[in-house]
Amino acid sequence: MQIAFIGLGNMGGPMAANLAKAGHQVRGHDPQAPMPEGVVAAPSAAEAARGAEVVITMLPNGAILRAVAAEVIPAMAPGALLCDCSTVDVESARAVDAQARAAGLEAMDAPVSGGIGGAQAGTLTFMVGGSDGAFARITPLLDVMGRKTVHCGASGAGQAAKICNNMILGVTMIATCEAFALADKLGLDRQKMFDVVSTSSGSSWSMNAYCPAPGVGPASPADNGYKPGFAADLMLKDLRLSQQAAEGADADTPMGALAAELYRRFVEEEDGRGMDFSAMLPRFVARNR
Ligand code: NAD
Repeated sequence: MQIAFIGLGNMGGPMAANLAKAGHQVRGHDPQAPMPEGVVAAPSAAEAARGAEVVITMLPNGAILRAVAAEVIPAMAPGALLCDCSTVDVESARAVDAQARAAGLEAMDAPVSGGIGGAQAGTLTFMVGGSDGAFARITPLLDVMGRKTVHCGASGAGQAAKICNNMILGVTMIATCEAFALADKLGLDRQKMFDVVSTSSGSSWSMNAYCPAPGVGPASPADNGYKPGFAADLMLKDLRLSQQAAEGADADTPMGALAAELYRRFVEEEDGRGMDFSAMLPRFVARNR
């Protein structure tokens, strides 16, 4: 298949490389990132998109996505599909879909979970919003880049699933970290805490698979000096998106709001920028001294 890939950063680079490795013809564009192996450089996003059957984007935010969509949609061939894999606000996903439809094309949102490791290994999870027909057409490509694909509903539903998932993740990570810091104060051994909670009703992915305490549980960024992993500033981005969505939908999300505020302080006022999001544990420990 002839594919255009716009945005070849930490995630997009390895995703595009996996498509090329699977035998697809991939033309890429990114003003900054190097071209991944097997991907042919195009001078602009529009040039990459010209003649492609599928245009995939993996960009930092909704504003950049809207700008890139405005550039590529007029260049896309009739019947081509625009698939955005970035994490953006639900409104931007729907606006891009409307713009594509107005041009006689189809767009879908397919944000991912699994991080840079998942992008490299081709084991991402995709949460997809779009029509049944578009979903059927994109699935073989998503299967190259990932291991699991869920069709969540119409346009925007993939982004809705992504931000709800990450709101739970942010809240449970903070809860796990503050509980570990409390356990320290109470003189409870961290390994014992893990042994109990990971097999009890307080268990979660944050505790069981990504334990924020170094030397406890499976290997995680805590064992590597809290080098990301999943950076605290990306968690802050996602929590802001879930709060923005909650405001737009008039939904009450007090835990999400508090998680967003704690990560904002951590990243903007404390020393959390560039740290993994599980570094909330040493933050709580320091505050408890
Ligand atoms: P990144 O900053 O490494 O990559 C983004 C790339 O987009 C950069 O290389 C940048 O040069 C490029 N770009 C910016 N404007 C462009 C334009 N106009 N045209 C073409 N390219 C342009 O970010 P990333 O970590 O690859 O994340 C990409 C998206 O995936 C984000 O929306 C992020 O929230 C989401 N995401 C990231 C992770 C992760 O662990 N890194 C996990 C899940 C989802």
